[in-house]
Amino acid sequence: MQVQSKTVVITGAGRGIGRSLASQFAQRGANLALLDLNAADLAESRALCEAHGVEARCYPADVSAEQQVIGAMDAIVHDFGRFDVIVNNAGIVNDSLLIKVKDGVVSDRMSLRQWQAVVDVNLTGVFLCGREAAAHMVKFGAGGVIINISSISRHGNIGQTNYAATKAGVAAMTVVWAKELARYGIRAGAIAPGFTNTEILSGMRPEVLQKVIAPVPLRRLGDPAEIAHAALFIVENDFFTGRCIDLDGGLRL
Ligand code: NAP
Repeated sequence: MQVQSKTVVITGAGRGIGRSLASQFAQRGANLALLDLNAADLAESRALCEAHGVEARCYPADVSAEQQVIGAMDAIVHDFGRFDVIVNNAGIVNDSLLIKVKDGVVSDRMSLRQWQAVVDVNLTGVFLCGREAAAHMVKFGAGGVIINISSISRHGNIGQTNYAATKAGVAAMTVVWAKELARYGIRAGAIAPGFTNTEILSGMRPEVLQKVIAPVPLRRLGDPAEIAHAALFIVENDFFTGRCIDLDGGLRL
């Protein structure tokens, strides 16, 4: 699929990887529908896109709230008159060990709240946005591309029971959608970034960050622009579907 003049929807577009995705798709001539919780961040991303001479609009919404997702997707279709690509990028972390044990006694455990918060955004959010996107794409009859942002953590990262489970789920949904939606000309792909330089890592102390980087063969964090580059590849390569691109500097968990 050519990117030029297509309508590309990006969730979590207010900062980090989502903002970089928005900017790179804009650079290639796509029109952008930007979805995020934070309206002020969205406005900044919109200005970045508009600097490339394309149309960009903001849709403040929570990807885990069904009616908000349906409302935002309907508004996008109304405003742009087409729906070609969605990148399901919005995601959160809320890390802790499954149980903490001190002197042989269980002192803490991952709460149901922590579990549910991450499942709601990372898994239910992708499900809802992917479902609505697919329905609109089928209605227009022009095919489309759905990209889900998974993570290297889907292989099982310590302290991330909730996050790893959602990111494995996202990769699995991608395979299902590739099989179910191919008959409508819709492709589905996933990208699994390794540690990438965004605010999601801001909670890490510098010494912890150094420990994270040390086993990466390329000895650095990924750049959000490198993740966006993979998304452009998925859109432009019409033989790509049902697979997940690992983009992690060679790190294996
Ligand atoms: P980020 O800097 O924290 O940005 C995430 C964006 O998603 C924020 O703008 C956030 O809005 C938005 N968001 C959060 N919850 C939302 C919701 N319920 N509805 C709508 N928007 C919501 O994170 P990032 O590093 O760019 O991560 C982007 C994606 O890549 C995530 O799916 C993440 O899991 C994945 N990933 C990141 C890394 C990494 O190392 N950075 C590695 C692997 C995978 P607010 O600002 O309002 O919270």
